[in-house]
Amino acid sequence: MKQVNLKVNGIPVTVDAGTRILDAARKVGVNIPTLCYLKDVTNQGSCRMCVVEVVGAKNLVTSCFATVREGMEVLTNTPKVLASRKTTLELILSNHDQKCLSCVRSTNCELQKLALEYGCDSYKYQGEKNHYEIDDSNPYLIRDNNKCILCRRCVAVCDKIQSVNAIGANNRGFKTEIGSVFGHKLNETGCVACGQCIKVCPVGALYEKDDTDRVMKAILDPDKFVIVGTAPAVRVGVGEEFGYPIGTDVQGKMVTACRRLGFDKVFDVNMTADLTIMEEGNELISRLGDKNAKLPMITSCSPGWINFIETFYPDLLDHLSTCKSPQQMFGAVMKTYYAEKFGIDPAKMVVVTVMPCTAKKTEVLREHHKASGYPDVDITITTREFARLLKRHSIDLRNLEESEFDDPIGTGSSAGNLFGTTGGVMEAALRTVAAVVNGRNLDKLDFKKVRGMDGIREATVKLDNGVTVNVAVAHSLSNARKLMDEIRAGKSKYQFIEVMACPGGCLNGGGQPIVPSEVLNNVDVKALRAKAIYDKDKKAEIRQCHENPVMKTLYKDYFGKPNSHKAHEVLHTTYSAQHKL
Ligand code: SF4
Ligand code: SF4
Ligand code: SF4
Repeated sequence: MKQVNLKVNGIPVTVDAGTRILDAARKVGVNIPTLCYLKDVTNQGSCRMCVVEVVGAKNLVTSCFATVREGMEVLTNTPKVLASRKTTLELILSNHDQKCLSCVRSTNCELQKLALEYGCDSYKYQGEKNHYEIDDSNPYLIRDNNKCILCRRCVAVCDKIQSVNAIGANNRGFKTEIGSVFGHKLNETGCVACGQCIKVCPVGALYEKDDTDRVMKAILDPDKFVIVGTAPAVRVGVGEEFGYPIGTDVQGKMVTACRRLGFDKVFDVNMTADLTIMEEGNELISRLGDKNAKLPMITSCSPGWINFIETFYPDLLDHLSTCKSPQQMFGAVMKTYYAEKFGIDPAKMVVVTVMPCTAKKTEVLREHHKASGYPDVDITITTREFARLLKRHSIDLRNLEESEFDDPIGTGSSAGNLFGTTGGVMEAALRTVAAVVNGRNLDKLDFKKVRGMDGIREATVKLDNGVTVNVAVAHSLSNARKLMDEIRAGKSKYQFIEVMACPGGCLNGGGQPIVPSEVLNNVDVKALRAKAIYDKDKKAEIRQCHENPVMKTLYKDYFGKPNSHKAHEVLHTTYSAQHKL
């Protein structure tokens, strides 16, 4: 690659030709503020916060868009540049509701931070303001365009990363607003509830529906037995809300925090991730041995993905595993097996889950997910809501001792914990499928080919019975779409596919802590959270789902064997086409 030499604020730097000025500046520790630019998502140069002076150029240059030239001299903090950025911010504020005190993003808002740094006068430009109706038409996400700064990051992530295209810019000029086609509400569109738009929004214009009051109402009701289950990715995310470095596993403190909130029992959804593998792994083995069965079989644990395939590929629903997700299996097991074993009336049981995911809020409402006759899961909250709930109750993770999940079904294997990252379900499944078919555990449990952050990864596994299994892993829905198009065209070479809707998998789910673009543009947040998950796996005693002693108990006492009639009644589901715009 051709190299280019330039100076940024007088500091020499050499970069590849084609590098953006913004990235060249970062290389020598010069940070340029942005509001619309987001690495790997968008660089449309519309907000004009990243303007810089280039010596010799007449006008300011947008550094997220313009690329370097040999001999270029870039100045990032001249009075002209600072004045331009300040005016940009004050113009944004002139059409912004500025209700910072009660805004969900206050103290984690990119606009608020920059307005403070640039010493903005919030009321410098007074005039007409737009007033928008809030869109709260769905169970997972609220859009408040009164706070929108039209950066279009949400549009880019929905289009480029998720290939859903549920939102875009409507109208023109001062009346421009972000919304769905023809002004429809989000629940009328093909939106899959992934929440990735919330994650990239720099301000408080997009946020999850808050179910924390419902949780506390249940906890405070003496007539209710309230159980909480936490997903794998939550423990490597929630610490960030309390000042821990990105990728810190705070499992023990998280469990203590749940107890302090007043839950009657605190269990680990890793346990039902193990159960998912028991069911799904055996389902795969049975499909591999049946020449009439639909292959490739595709995982079904990601509700954003299920919403996507039901909306965009309804003709491929037979390829999905019939397993409910670990969250739904968790609720189903609690209200059937656990309720029976401990003599608790499922009508009085409230199952709460803490999830990295906004789409889970759609999953709990699925019609057929009522193994006990009552909804498997009653309330699901995101990692962010969980942190908010703790802060409201003055529970600071940093001040807590660690504790263990409750017995008797609190144990999960580290393979179940791998569900928190892209490739994790596949790796957990391959460990168990190989052990079941080969009649012995593998010597090496790590499947490194399915790890990492490439959009689509593949591997081939040879089993002792002579069967070769080609597998693929896709994360983010634009990558899933490529694999689905292959299946539709009859060109898929795989027998088993894992799909997670969110980029990086659940660890970067739509409900995880929001990381400002200043950090996202410089740090690989997904890799750091994934490392925490793999580190736990390296050190764990139980690294395979089928070795979790809880599985043995569950099958001995209740389900009989994987894919039994009873297991199908409680742990499996069906899918149907979603007809949306
Ligand atoms: S989005 Fe930011 S600037 Fe706007 S009200 Fe919320 S915290 Fe304040
Ligand atoms: S939730 Fe996902 S699908 Fe829906 S608008 Fe946001 S990014 Fe698009
Ligand atoms: S909703 Fe948020 S991400 Fe979308 S355009 Fe508005 S400010 Fe940007």
